[in-house]
Amino acid sequence: MSLIVAKFGGSSVQNAAQIEKVKKIVQANPGRRFVVVSAPGKEERYNKKITDHLFNIATGGRHFKNERHEITAQESVQAVIHKFETLERDLGIDAADLIDSLRTDLARELPDDKRIAFYASRGEHYSARFITRYFRKEGMEAGCALPENIPFLVRGDYDNAKVEEEAYLHLANLKDNSGITVMPGYYGVTREGDIAVFSRGGSDLTGGELAYALRADLYENWTDTDGIYEADPRIITRANVIPRLTYKEIRLLASKGFNVFHFDAMVNCKKRNIPINIRNTNNPSAPGTFIVNERVPQELIAGIARVDHIAYVYLEKDTLGESGAFIEELLDIFRRYEVQTYHYPVDKDDIAVLLDQNDLIGKINDVRREIEDRLNPDSMKVMYDFSILSPVGIGMRNVPGVIAEAAAALRDNKISIETIDQGPAQISFHIGIHSAYADAGLEALFERLIENQNLKKN
Ligand code: ASP
Repeated sequence: MSLIVAKFGGSSVQNAAQIEKVKKIVQANPGRRFVVVSAPGKEERYNKKITDHLFNIATGGRHFKNERHEITAQESVQAVIHKFETLERDLGIDAADLIDSLRTDLARELPDDKRIAFYASRGEHYSARFITRYFRKEGMEAGCALPENIPFLVRGDYDNAKVEEEAYLHLANLKDNSGITVMPGYYGVTREGDIAVFSRGGSDLTGGELAYALRADLYENWTDTDGIYEADPRIITRANVIPRLTYKEIRLLASKGFNVFHFDAMVNCKKRNIPINIRNTNNPSAPGTFIVNERVPQELIAGIARVDHIAYVYLEKDTLGESGAFIEELLDIFRRYEVQTYHYPVDKDDIAVLLDQNDLIGKINDVRREIEDRLNPDSMKVMYDFSILSPVGIGMRNVPGVIAEAAAALRDNKISIETIDQGPAQISFHIGIHSAYADAGLEALFERLIENQNLKKN
Protein backbone atom coordinates (compact mmCIF):
# COMPACT_ATOMS: atom_id res chain seq x y z
CA MET A 1 0.00 0.00 0.00
CA SER A 2 1.29 3.42 -0.83
CA LEU A 3 2.29 5.75 1.95
CA ILE A 4 0.71 9.19 1.82
CA VAL A 5 1.42 12.29 3.87
CA ALA A 6 -1.69 14.46 3.81
CA LYS A 7 -1.36 18.06 4.93
CA PHE A 8 -4.47 20.10 5.69
CA GLY A 9 -4.29 23.89 5.66
CA GLY A 10 -5.97 26.43 7.94
CA SER A 11 -9.29 26.59 6.10
CA SER A 12 -9.52 22.77 6.12
CA VAL A 13 -9.33 22.67 9.93
CA GLN A 14 -11.13 25.93 10.63
CA ASN A 15 -14.19 24.46 12.33
CA ALA A 16 -15.88 21.17 13.17
CA ALA A 17 -17.63 20.90 9.81
CA GLN A 18 -14.31 21.21 8.01
CA ILE A 19 -12.58 18.77 10.35
CA GLU A 20 -15.32 16.26 9.62
CA LYS A 21 -14.41 16.55 5.93
CA VAL A 22 -10.78 15.93 6.87
CA LYS A 23 -11.78 12.80 8.72
CA LYS A 24 -13.71 11.48 5.72
CA ILE A 25 -10.80 12.17 3.41
CA VAL A 26 -8.38 10.37 5.74
CA GLN A 27 -10.74 7.41 6.07
CA ALA A 28 -11.24 7.19 2.32
CA ASN A 29 -7.68 6.01 1.65
CA PRO A 30 -5.81 3.71 4.06
CA GLY A 31 -2.53 5.03 2.63
CA ARG A 32 -3.17 8.36 4.37
CA ARG A 33 -1.36 7.41 7.55
CA PHE A 34 0.32 10.72 8.25
CA VAL A 35 -1.73 13.87 8.68
CA VAL A 36 -0.06 17.25 9.12
CA VAL A 37 -2.31 20.08 10.23
CA SER A 38 -2.21 23.85 10.26
CA ALA A 39 -3.68 26.02 12.96
CA PRO A 40 -7.41 26.64 12.55
CA GLY A 41 -7.78 29.39 9.93
CA LYS A 42 -9.92 32.43 10.51
CA GLU A 43 -12.13 32.92 13.56
CA GLU A 44 -15.54 34.54 13.15
CA ARG A 45 -15.41 37.54 15.46
CA TYR A 46 -12.59 39.58 13.88
CA ASN A 47 -12.16 37.48 10.75
CA LYS A 48 -8.44 37.00 11.52
CA LYS A 49 -6.30 33.90 11.38
CA ILE A 50 -5.60 32.19 14.69
CA THR A 51 -1.85 32.41 14.01
CA ASP A 52 -2.16 36.18 13.60
CA HIS A 53 -3.98 36.40 16.92
CA LEU A 54 -1.13 34.45 18.48
CA PHE A 55 1.41 36.89 17.05
CA ASN A 56 -0.77 39.69 18.41
CA ILE A 57 -0.74 38.18 21.89
CA ALA A 58 3.02 37.71 21.80
CA THR A 59 3.62 41.29 20.69
CA GLY A 60 1.22 42.93 23.14
CA GLY A 61 -1.15 44.00 20.33
CA ARG A 62 1.50 45.41 18.00
CA HIS A 63 0.92 42.79 15.32
CA PHE A 64 -2.58 44.02 14.43
CA LYS A 65 -1.77 47.63 15.18
CA ASN A 66 0.85 47.50 12.42
CA GLU A 67 -1.95 46.45 10.09
CA ARG A 68 -4.08 49.32 11.47
CA HIS A 69 -6.48 47.07 13.36
CA GLU A 70 -7.18 47.81 16.96
CA ILE A 71 -7.45 44.36 18.47
CA THR A 72 -5.79 44.15 21.86
CA ALA A 73 -3.69 41.23 23.02
CA GLN A 74 -6.40 40.41 25.56
CA GLU A 75 -9.05 40.33 22.83
CA SER A 76 -6.82 37.99 20.85
CA VAL A 77 -6.50 35.67 23.87
CA GLN A 78 -10.29 35.57 24.07
CA ALA A 79 -10.59 34.91 20.33
CA VAL A 80 -8.13 31.99 20.45
CA ILE A 81 -9.67 30.42 23.52
CA HIS A 82 -13.13 30.87 22.08
CA LYS A 83 -12.05 29.16 18.86
CA PHE A 84 -10.81 26.07 20.69
CA GLU A 85 -13.80 25.99 23.07
CA THR A 86 -16.09 26.06 20.05
CA LEU A 87 -14.11 23.24 18.47
CA GLU A 88 -14.38 21.21 21.65
CA ARG A 89 -18.14 21.66 21.72
CA ASP A 90 -18.77 21.14 18.01
CA LEU A 91 -16.46 18.15 17.68
CA GLY A 92 -18.14 16.61 20.72
CA ILE A 93 -14.88 15.86 22.50
CA ASP A 94 -13.78 16.46 26.05
CA ALA A 95 -10.79 18.78 25.88
CA ALA A 96 -11.03 20.79 29.11
CA ASP A 97 -7.47 19.76 29.98
CA LEU A 98 -6.20 21.00 26.62
CA ILE A 99 -7.97 24.36 27.01
CA ASP A 100 -6.38 24.74 30.47
CA SER A 101 -2.99 23.93 29.04
CA LEU A 102 -3.55 26.45 26.22
CA ARG A 103 -4.38 29.16 28.77
CA THR A 104 -1.19 28.36 30.67
CA ASP A 105 0.85 28.45 27.45
CA LEU A 106 -0.56 31.86 26.51
CA ALA A 107 0.59 33.31 29.80
CA ARG A 108 4.05 31.83 29.70
CA GLU A 109 6.91 34.25 30.33
CA LEU A 110 9.70 33.98 27.80
CA PRO A 111 12.21 36.41 26.28
CA ASP A 112 10.98 38.26 23.19
CA ASP A 113 11.84 36.19 20.13
CA LYS A 114 11.40 32.89 21.95
CA ARG A 115 8.00 34.04 23.17
CA ILE A 116 6.80 35.03 19.71
CA ALA A 117 7.77 31.67 18.22
CA PHE A 118 6.34 29.70 21.13
CA TYR A 119 3.00 31.50 21.06
CA ALA A 120 2.80 31.37 17.25
CA SER A 121 3.27 27.59 17.34
CA ARG A 122 0.33 26.99 19.66
CA GLY A 123 -2.27 27.11 16.89
CA GLU A 124 -0.79 24.07 15.17
CA HIS A 125 0.06 22.38 18.46
CA TYR A 126 -3.50 22.39 19.77
CA SER A 127 -5.03 21.88 16.35
CA ALA A 128 -3.21 18.53 16.12
CA ARG A 129 -4.13 17.50 19.65
CA PHE A 130 -7.81 18.35 19.17
CA ILE A 131 -7.99 16.56 15.85
CA THR A 132 -6.30 13.45 17.26
CA ARG A 133 -8.82 13.37 20.04
CA TYR A 134 -11.66 13.75 17.58
CA PHE A 135 -10.34 10.96 15.35
CA ARG A 136 -10.20 8.66 18.37
CA LYS A 137 -13.72 9.58 19.39
CA GLU A 138 -14.77 8.60 15.88
CA GLY A 139 -13.25 5.17 16.43
CA MET A 140 -10.04 5.68 14.47
CA GLU A 141 -6.68 4.52 15.74
CA ALA A 142 -4.78 7.80 15.98
CA GLY A 143 -1.82 9.27 17.83
CA CYS A 144 -0.30 12.71 17.93
CA ALA A 145 3.40 13.22 17.14
CA LEU A 146 4.50 16.55 18.58
CA PRO A 147 7.65 18.25 17.26
CA GLU A 148 8.69 18.68 20.92
CA ASN A 149 8.77 14.90 21.41
CA ILE A 150 9.89 13.63 18.01
CA PRO A 151 12.09 15.82 18.28
CA PHE A 152 11.75 17.72 15.02
CA LEU A 153 15.09 19.52 15.33
CA VAL A 154 15.55 22.95 13.81
CA ARG A 155 18.07 25.76 14.07
CA GLY A 156 18.45 29.39 13.14
CA ASP A 157 16.11 32.28 13.71
CA TYR A 158 13.13 31.65 15.91
CA ASP A 159 10.78 32.95 13.24
CA ASN A 160 12.56 31.46 10.24
CA ALA A 161 13.84 28.11 11.41
CA LYS A 162 15.75 25.65 9.23
CA VAL A 163 15.53 21.88 9.54
CA GLU A 164 18.53 20.07 11.06
CA GLU A 165 19.78 17.03 9.14
CA GLU A 166 19.26 14.84 12.19
CA ALA A 167 15.56 15.71 12.21
CA TYR A 168 14.99 13.48 9.18
CA LEU A 169 16.17 10.42 11.11
CA HIS A 170 13.76 11.21 13.91
CA LEU A 171 10.90 11.78 11.51
CA ALA A 172 11.72 8.53 9.70
CA ASN A 173 11.25 6.66 12.99
CA LEU A 174 7.56 7.54 12.89
CA LYS A 175 7.17 5.14 9.99
CA ASP A 176 6.48 2.22 12.31
CA ASN A 177 3.62 3.99 14.10
CA SER A 178 0.41 2.08 13.82
CA GLY A 179 -2.82 3.79 12.86
CA ILE A 180 -2.88 7.44 11.89
CA THR A 181 -0.24 9.87 13.09
CA VAL A 182 -1.28 13.49 13.37
CA MET A 183 1.52 16.04 13.44
CA PRO A 184 1.30 19.80 13.90
CA GLY A 185 2.90 21.79 11.10
CA TYR A 186 4.87 25.03 11.15
CA TYR A 187 7.30 24.50 14.03
CA GLY A 188 10.18 22.52 15.38
CA VAL A 189 12.37 22.52 18.44
CA THR A 190 15.98 23.63 18.82
CA ARG A 191 18.73 21.60 20.48
CA GLU A 192 18.28 23.84 23.51
CA GLY A 193 14.63 22.78 23.67
CA ASP A 194 13.09 26.05 22.47
CA ILE A 195 10.29 26.24 19.95
CA ALA A 196 11.12 27.89 16.62
CA VAL A 197 8.70 28.42 13.74
CA PHE A 198 9.22 28.36 9.99
CA SER A 199 8.28 31.37 7.90
CA ARG A 200 4.55 31.96 7.45
CA GLY A 201 2.68 29.18 5.70
CA GLY A 202 5.29 26.79 7.04
CA SER A 203 2.97 23.84 7.71
CA ASP A 204 3.43 23.00 4.04
CA LEU A 205 7.11 22.69 4.77
CA THR A 206 6.52 20.30 7.67
CA GLY A 207 4.42 18.12 5.37
CA GLY A 208 7.11 18.15 2.67
CA GLU A 209 9.88 17.32 5.13
CA LEU A 210 7.87 14.50 6.66
CA ALA A 211 7.09 13.06 3.23
CA TYR A 212 10.79 13.24 2.39
CA ALA A 213 11.92 11.60 5.64
CA LEU A 214 9.37 8.80 5.34
CA ARG A 215 10.11 8.34 1.63
CA ALA A 216 6.38 8.66 1.09
CA ASP A 217 4.84 7.75 -2.25
CA LEU A 218 2.79 10.93 -2.34
CA TYR A 219 2.49 14.25 -0.55
CA GLU A 220 -1.07 15.55 -0.61
CA ASN A 221 -1.57 19.20 0.12
CA TRP A 222 -5.24 19.80 0.93
CA THR A 223 -6.45 23.36 0.64
CA ASP A 224 -9.52 25.25 -0.50
CA THR A 225 -9.09 25.44 -4.26
CA ASP A 226 -9.35 22.74 -6.89
CA GLY A 227 -5.67 23.03 -7.73
CA ILE A 228 -3.36 25.42 -9.50
CA TYR A 229 -5.05 27.50 -12.17
CA GLU A 230 -3.62 28.56 -15.51
CA ALA A 231 -3.98 32.18 -14.41
CA ASP A 232 -5.48 33.97 -11.43
CA PRO A 233 -9.12 32.76 -11.60
CA ARG A 234 -10.33 35.98 -10.00
CA ILE A 235 -9.26 37.80 -13.15
CA ILE A 236 -9.55 35.07 -15.77
CA THR A 237 -12.68 33.33 -14.57
CA ARG A 238 -12.52 30.73 -17.32
CA ALA A 239 -8.99 29.60 -16.37
CA ASN A 240 -8.76 25.83 -15.81
CA VAL A 241 -6.92 23.80 -13.21
CA ILE A 242 -3.55 22.61 -14.52
CA PRO A 243 -3.49 18.80 -14.17
CA ARG A 244 0.32 18.34 -14.08
CA LEU A 245 3.27 20.64 -13.61
CA THR A 246 6.94 20.04 -13.05
CA TYR A 247 8.68 21.32 -9.92
CA LYS A 248 10.59 23.70 -12.09
CA GLU A 249 7.45 25.17 -13.57
CA ILE A 250 5.73 25.54 -10.23
CA ARG A 251 8.74 27.27 -8.74
CA LEU A 252 8.78 29.74 -11.60
CA LEU A 253 5.08 30.42 -11.20
CA ALA A 254 5.33 30.65 -7.42
CA SER A 255 8.21 33.09 -7.59
CA LYS A 256 6.02 35.36 -9.68
CA GLY A 257 3.02 35.62 -7.45
CA PHE A 258 1.26 32.25 -7.80
CA ASN A 259 0.24 31.87 -4.23
CA VAL A 260 0.31 28.12 -4.18
CA PHE A 261 2.09 26.82 -1.20
CA HIS A 262 5.29 27.31 0.71
CA PHE A 263 8.17 27.73 -1.68
CA ASP A 264 10.65 25.56 0.25
CA ALA A 265 8.17 22.72 0.73
CA MET A 266 9.00 21.36 -2.70
CA VAL A 267 12.76 21.21 -2.43
CA ASN A 268 13.15 17.89 -0.68
CA CYS A 269 10.15 16.22 -2.33
CA LYS A 270 11.81 16.98 -5.65
CA LYS A 271 15.03 15.30 -4.48
CA ARG A 272 13.23 12.04 -3.72
CA ASN A 273 10.86 12.30 -6.61
CA ILE A 274 7.79 12.43 -4.39
CA PRO A 275 4.84 13.85 -6.33
CA ILE A 276 2.86 16.61 -4.66
CA ASN A 277 -0.88 16.65 -5.21
CA ILE A 278 -2.72 19.89 -4.46
CA ARG A 279 -6.32 19.01 -3.57
CA ASN A 280 -9.49 20.68 -2.39
CA THR A 281 -10.91 19.61 0.98
CA ASN A 282 -14.25 21.08 -0.10
CA ASN A 283 -14.30 19.14 -3.36
CA PRO A 284 -12.41 15.90 -2.75
CA SER A 285 -13.53 14.29 -5.98
CA ALA A 286 -11.53 16.83 -8.02
CA PRO A 287 -8.16 15.31 -8.95
CA GLY A 288 -6.26 18.55 -8.25
CA THR A 289 -2.83 19.41 -9.60
CA PHE A 290 0.09 16.99 -9.55
CA ILE A 291 3.60 18.37 -9.25
CA VAL A 292 6.13 15.95 -10.66
CA ASN A 293 9.72 15.79 -11.84
CA GLU A 294 8.94 15.05 -15.45
CA ARG A 295 5.97 15.32 -17.71
CA VAL A 296 5.27 15.31 -21.43
CA PRO A 297 3.74 18.69 -22.22
CA GLN A 298 0.59 18.78 -24.31
CA GLU A 299 0.63 22.55 -24.41
CA LEU A 300 3.06 25.40 -24.91
CA ILE A 301 2.30 27.47 -21.89
CA ALA A 302 1.04 25.86 -18.70
CA GLY A 303 0.24 29.02 -16.76
CA ILE A 304 0.71 32.76 -16.64
CA ALA A 305 1.83 34.33 -13.39
CA ARG A 306 1.52 37.99 -12.57
CA VAL A 307 3.08 40.25 -9.98
CA ASP A 308 1.91 43.79 -9.34
CA HIS A 309 3.36 46.72 -7.40
CA ILE A 310 6.64 46.63 -9.21
CA ALA A 311 8.98 49.59 -9.16
CA TYR A 312 11.49 50.14 -11.90
CA VAL A 313 14.78 51.58 -10.72
CA TYR A 314 16.83 52.81 -13.65
CA LEU A 315 20.52 53.77 -13.41
CA GLU A 316 22.87 55.14 -16.00
CA LYS A 317 26.64 55.22 -15.76
CA ASP A 318 29.19 54.86 -18.50
CA THR A 319 30.54 51.31 -18.75
CA LEU A 320 28.67 50.05 -15.70
CA GLY A 321 27.67 46.90 -17.55
CA GLU A 322 31.30 45.97 -18.11
CA SER A 323 32.02 45.09 -14.54
CA GLY A 324 30.08 42.71 -12.35
CA ALA A 325 31.10 44.75 -9.32
CA PHE A 326 28.59 47.53 -9.98
CA ILE A 327 25.69 45.09 -10.29
CA GLU A 328 26.80 43.16 -7.26
CA GLU A 329 27.02 46.25 -5.12
CA LEU A 330 23.67 47.53 -6.30
CA LEU A 331 21.95 44.25 -5.48
CA ASP A 332 23.71 44.19 -2.15
CA ILE A 333 22.11 47.53 -1.26
CA PHE A 334 18.64 46.17 -1.99
CA ARG A 335 19.40 43.02 -0.06
CA ARG A 336 20.48 44.95 3.00
CA TYR A 337 17.31 47.02 2.92
CA GLU A 338 15.27 43.82 2.51
CA VAL A 339 13.84 44.85 -0.83
CA GLN A 340 12.81 41.92 -2.97
CA THR A 341 14.22 42.20 -6.49
CA TYR A 342 12.94 40.33 -9.52
CA HIS A 343 14.88 41.12 -12.67
CA TYR A 344 17.72 43.36 -13.64
CA PRO A 345 18.08 43.84 -17.36
CA VAL A 346 21.53 45.26 -17.95
CA ASP A 347 23.25 46.88 -20.91
CA LYS A 348 26.61 48.50 -21.48
CA ASP A 349 25.86 51.81 -19.78
CA ASP A 350 22.64 51.23 -17.88
CA ILE A 351 20.74 48.85 -15.68
CA ALA A 352 17.17 48.59 -14.42
CA VAL A 353 16.14 46.68 -11.35
CA LEU A 354 12.56 45.55 -11.02
CA LEU A 355 11.55 45.25 -7.41
CA ASP A 356 8.67 45.10 -5.00
CA GLN A 357 7.63 48.71 -4.48
CA ASN A 358 5.95 47.95 -1.18
CA ASP A 359 9.38 47.05 0.19
CA LEU A 360 10.52 50.59 -0.58
CA ILE A 361 7.95 52.25 1.66
CA GLY A 362 9.73 54.37 4.23
CA LYS A 363 13.14 53.38 2.82
CA ILE A 364 13.33 54.94 -0.61
CA ASN A 365 15.28 58.03 0.45
CA ASP A 366 17.88 55.98 2.30
CA VAL A 367 18.18 53.54 -0.58
CA ARG A 368 18.64 56.39 -3.07
CA ARG A 369 21.25 58.07 -0.88
CA GLU A 370 23.21 54.87 -0.49
CA ILE A 371 23.16 54.21 -4.23
CA GLU A 372 24.40 57.77 -4.85
CA ASP A 373 27.16 57.43 -2.25
CA ARG A 374 28.40 54.00 -3.15
CA LEU A 375 27.89 53.89 -6.91
CA ASN A 376 27.77 57.50 -8.02
CA PRO A 377 25.53 56.91 -11.09
CA ASP A 378 25.21 59.58 -13.80
CA SER A 379 21.46 59.45 -13.39
CA MET A 380 18.86 57.53 -11.45
CA LYS A 381 15.10 57.30 -11.98
CA VAL A 382 12.52 55.40 -9.96
CA MET A 383 9.20 54.64 -11.63
CA TYR A 384 6.28 52.96 -9.96
CA ASP A 385 3.26 50.80 -10.74
CA PHE A 386 4.51 48.21 -13.13
CA SER A 387 3.32 44.62 -13.39
CA ILE A 388 5.21 41.59 -14.60
CA LEU A 389 3.40 38.93 -16.62
CA SER A 390 5.27 35.62 -16.76
CA PRO A 391 4.11 32.83 -19.08
CA VAL A 392 5.65 29.52 -17.96
CA GLY A 393 5.67 26.12 -19.63
CA ILE A 394 8.17 23.43 -20.57
CA GLY A 395 6.27 23.06 -23.85
CA MET A 396 7.62 26.38 -25.16
CA ARG A 397 11.23 25.21 -25.25
CA ASN A 398 12.49 25.01 -28.83
CA VAL A 399 9.24 26.31 -30.30
CA PRO A 400 9.92 29.39 -32.39
CA GLY A 401 7.69 32.40 -32.11
CA VAL A 402 6.17 32.12 -28.64
CA ILE A 403 7.46 35.49 -27.53
CA ALA A 404 6.45 36.96 -30.88
CA GLU A 405 2.90 35.70 -30.30
CA ALA A 406 2.87 37.26 -26.85
CA ALA A 407 4.17 40.57 -28.19
CA ALA A 408 1.59 40.51 -31.00
CA ALA A 409 -1.23 39.86 -28.53
CA LEU A 410 -0.15 42.88 -26.49
CA ARG A 411 0.32 45.01 -29.59
CA ASP A 412 -3.20 44.14 -30.79
CA ASN A 413 -4.44 45.46 -27.47
CA LYS A 414 -2.28 48.59 -27.70
CA ILE A 415 -0.25 47.61 -24.66
CA SER A 416 3.35 48.64 -24.78
CA ILE A 417 6.10 46.42 -23.38
CA GLU A 418 8.36 48.22 -20.90
CA THR A 419 10.79 45.33 -20.33
CA ILE A 420 11.11 41.79 -21.59
CA ASP A 421 13.36 39.03 -20.46
CA GLN A 422 13.51 35.31 -21.26
CA GLY A 423 14.39 32.99 -18.37
CA PRO A 424 17.64 31.05 -18.88
CA ALA A 425 15.90 27.66 -18.91
CA GLN A 426 13.83 28.93 -21.83
CA ILE A 427 10.61 27.79 -20.25
CA SER A 428 9.48 31.23 -19.11
CA PHE A 429 9.64 34.85 -20.08
CA HIS A 430 8.76 37.97 -18.21
CA ILE A 431 7.07 41.01 -19.66
CA GLY A 432 6.91 44.25 -17.72
CA ILE A 433 3.97 46.54 -18.51
CA HIS A 434 2.23 49.41 -16.74
CA SER A 435 -0.11 48.14 -14.03
CA ALA A 436 -3.02 50.02 -15.56
CA TYR A 437 -2.92 47.46 -18.40
CA ALA A 438 -2.18 44.39 -16.30
CA ASP A 439 -5.70 42.89 -16.44
CA ALA A 440 -6.02 43.50 -20.16
CA GLY A 441 -2.48 42.21 -20.74
CA LEU A 442 -3.13 39.02 -18.81
CA GLU A 443 -6.36 38.49 -20.70
CA ALA A 444 -4.63 39.02 -24.05
CA LEU A 445 -1.80 36.59 -23.23
CA PHE A 446 -4.21 34.04 -21.82
CA GLU A 447 -6.29 34.10 -24.95
CA ARG A 448 -3.34 33.91 -27.33
CA LEU A 449 -0.99 31.57 -25.53
CA ILE A 450 -3.27 29.27 -23.57
CA GLU A 451 -6.62 29.21 -25.31
CA ASN A 452 -5.68 29.57 -28.96
CA GLN A 453 -2.14 28.29 -29.02
CA ASN A 454 -1.60 29.06 -32.71
CA LEU A 455 1.86 27.62 -32.45
CA LYS A 456 0.84 24.41 -30.80
CA LYS A 457 3.04 21.53 -31.71
CA ASN A 458 1.35 18.81 -33.66
N1 ASP B 1 -0.45 28.78 10.74
C1 ASP B 1 0.75 29.24 10.11
C2 ASP B 1 0.46 30.49 9.31
O1 ASP B 1 -0.63 31.01 9.34
C3 ASP B 1 1.39 28.18 9.28
C4 ASP B 1 0.51 27.52 8.25
O2 ASP B 1 -0.70 27.57 8.32
O3 ASP B 1 1.06 26.91 7.35
O4 ASP B 1 1.34 31.01 8.67
